[in-house]
Amino acid sequence: MYSWTVGDFKISRVLEMPVEIGVLDGLIEEATPEAVQGLPWLAPDYANSAGQLIWSLHSYVIDTGSKVIVVDTCCGNGKSAPLIPAWGNLDNPFLERLAEAGYDREQVDVVLGTHLHLDHVGWNTMDDGGQWVPTFPNARYTYAEDEYNYHRAIADEGDISSDLAGAVVYDGANPDIHNQQRLVFEESIQPCIDAGLLDLVPSGHKITDGVTYVSTPGHTKSHQSVMLESEGQRAFITGDFIHHPCQIGEPSWQSHGDFDRALSAAQRADFVKKYADSDLLVLGTHFAGTSAGRITHADGGFRFVPA
Ligand SMILES: [Zn+2]
Repeated sequence: MYSWTVGDFKISRVLEMPVEIGVLDGLIEEATPEAVQGLPWLAPDYANSAGQLIWSLHSYVIDTGSKVIVVDTCCGNGKSAPLIPAWGNLDNPFLERLAEAGYDREQVDVVLGTHLHLDHVGWNTMDDGGQWVPTFPNARYTYAEDEYNYHRAIADEGDISSDLAGAVVYDGANPDIHNQQRLVFEESIQPCIDAGLLDLVPSGHKITDGVTYVSTPGHTKSHQSVMLESEGQRAFITGDFIHHPCQIGEPSWQSHGDFDRALSAAQRADFVKKYADSDLLVLGTHFAGTSAGRITHADGGFRFVPA
């Protein structure tokens, strides 16, 4: 169990599972084994000696002292994932690990989503005798309104064309994507709506003191990362804005599923330059190893140094 202190905030990582090596090979097209081996600092935490990337599925719990906030909720147990079959019908002790970190599911005040892909909303709900019910019954499930509408349109068969013209892979016109996103809504979003727990907020919204959405579009249309600030210290939860630490060394490398690849790459290049050698603690949503670290200059470029 990894945890960090940022001012008065305590941040804990709750692991769902390491991603099986190979499942996401090819997701970042430029990250060929040879290219990955050209960034030797990625091994052993973020890549193996064969040049395959290593990934993780986990949530972050932010305890501000007055609120308990879960950022992204992984794949969940027993969910339908035809798009990535290895992530469907899982049976992981996620809630037991949450308890090990010191939190019961009833204690969670806010579930904060970076975006609504299947590996970020799964534990929104759990199976209760054949019915999907909110896992966190006392939480406000919070999403950026534009981001919610983008995914809703993909899930909603009738409304996929004009607004999503820029989509590359995660395009609702692709029947596999449409079907997956429909299942995401049915199993992981609608039960929270039915329970009256959904809050839609503007992009860049301040969630509570020291916890703010940061607009990082590119992976999805209105993707949000999360900035944490307490007592002069800062941390940043990436979501899929930085999908893998290799994109700190090579910000132009793009994920196959990105909605707008050029925008995604440009945002990352700016971010890496802006925060290199700063004290910003970067918490990666799919980073393996300790998942956290800092960006530094190295060899004419940038690298990620684990913390
Ligand atoms: Zn993801």
